[in-house]
Amino acid sequence: MRREVPPPWLEIVERNVPFYRMLSPEDRQELWGHMQVFLAEKQFEGCGGAEVTDEVRVTVAALACILLLHRKTDYYPLLSSIVIYPDEYVGERRRWDDAGVVTEGPEPRVGESWEQGTVVLSWKDVLLDAESWDDGFNVVFHEFAHQLDHEDGITDAEGFLPGFPEGSPWRDILEREYEKLLTDDEAGRWTLIDPYGAESPAEFFAVITETFFEMPVEMKRDHPELYGVLRHYYRQDPEAWVREG
Ligand SMILES: [Zn+2]
Repeated sequence: MRREVPPPWLEIVERNVPFYRMLSPEDRQELWGHMQVFLAEKQFEGCGGAEVTDEVRVTVAALACILLLHRKTDYYPLLSSIVIYPDEYVGERRRWDDAGVVTEGPEPRVGESWEQGTVVLSWKDVLLDAESWDDGFNVVFHEFAHQLDHEDGITDAEGFLPGFPEGSPWRDILEREYEKLLTDDEAGRWTLIDPYGAESPAEFFAVITETFFEMPVEMKRDHPELYGVLRHYYRQDPEAWVREG
């Protein structure tokens, strides 16, 4: 954790990860500590011709570890490897309809998160999403939020947030906001939160994580209670980064 930061890594993060510049000096230092552990523990693997350079490793680590700041963490304990594709890739998709029919077929993807140890990412999208830090989309935040969910054994069917048991006020807010997104999505209304979150509670948690870090001003204004839940969960206040900017 206390290993010194190689100057080329610092340069990569300053160039690729605008969030880094918004963090306080103490948070930057904490982030580097987390990144050193993350980079020492996790294997990266290139696929489809992707080359795993220091730029790839350091950029992914910086974004993934932003989610860990200020929290007691075991560094994504279920995760062992990160598979990098150069660009969108084709993955297999399974979908169950109400009659229990499973439809499978290839579809283009930018990322995925497996409970058994793997995150898959399109490098092109990692970089684009990192640069556009205020559009509400970030594939690394999304997939690593799924990892946080997996680590407490939370599944699509029951889970919202690790550590928020049924009946807690936080949980009530999440359930209410999830229901609202479902209703708005079905009615075709525009939503600040990506309607993809209506797929399942797990996707809801992943997309609200993206909104929280990338559109905190709008989220705090339109969904103050939900913002409060995530502020409590992540122990961070991105709205203040923007405000104090
Ligand atoms: Zn997802």
